[in-house]
Amino acid sequence: MRDWQATDSPLLDVRHVTKRFGGVVANHDISLSVERGTIVGLIGPNGSGKTTLFNSIVGQHPIDAGEIWFKGQEISRYRVDHIARLGLIRTFQQTRIFGKMTCMENMLVALPESRRHLAAMFGHGSRADMERAAELLEFVGLYSKRYHEAGSLSFGQQKLLEFAMALMCEPQMLLLDEPTAGINPTLINGLVDRLRRANSEMGITLLVIEHNMRVIMNMAEYIYCLAHGELLAAGPPEEIRNDPRVIDAYLGVS
Ligand code: ADP
Ligand code: MG
Repeated sequence: MRDWQATDSPLLDVRHVTKRFGGVVANHDISLSVERGTIVGLIGPNGSGKTTLFNSIVGQHPIDAGEIWFKGQEISRYRVDHIARLGLIRTFQQTRIFGKMTCMENMLVALPESRRHLAAMFGHGSRADMERAAELLEFVGLYSKRYHEAGSLSFGQQKLLEFAMALMCEPQMLLLDEPTAGINPTLINGLVDRLRRANSEMGITLLVIEHNMRVIMNMAEYIYCLAHGELLAAGPPEEIRNDPRVIDAYLGVS
């Protein structure tokens, strides 16, 4: 699917965004942009404002200053549902799955509101939604577990399920908040491979918050680094890796 703005403007454009919580300036004058079809990283020490920026972008809370644009339209004052319908979806640092429901049921709950309602009424989704759910579970390697309770999966498998649930909304862009956090190292490569394929095969643009430097340096073609709520540095991975300001920011915190 192509939009008319395909070549004109970045897919996501964050302009001078400031977000305060009482006296805490969680984000100060942050500007960043993400081109369609790319994988971009967002790094920074704990508390530097990464998750806050995601929350602002997807409309989870109002921003105090600045503008956020997606697909050439200003979305700064839109609510979460509206932004999700435009194709911009985020995942959470903590997984948000329903442990007592099966993987298939979780996939249907992840549907946009209108279709979710139908799924709940009939106890199953439309044929197309069921097929899509099965396909995506296959994609993340959970097809054989589709009728298992999500709570019985390992933490890494739950993260894969959550990723599949995000894909169920047919996003054009995904914001992933620490997708590999807490995952067994042997599962990380599999997850990273799925993220890359979502980008290359499904054409989904990714903005990824990631603490694992090896992962983000390999995956992203451009990286933004936050520190103390401000944009500290931006550039390709090799530049960021050697940037003394970035190194200081990471060494400066325990
Ligand atoms: P990161 O994701 O980079 O670790 P966060 O965006 O979670 O950082 O937090 C940035 C700062 O904003 C921290 O000082 C945090 O305590 C503060 N903060 C985040 N969310 C809230 C909130 N809902 N209320 C008050 N302060 C918050
Ligand atoms: Mg965070």
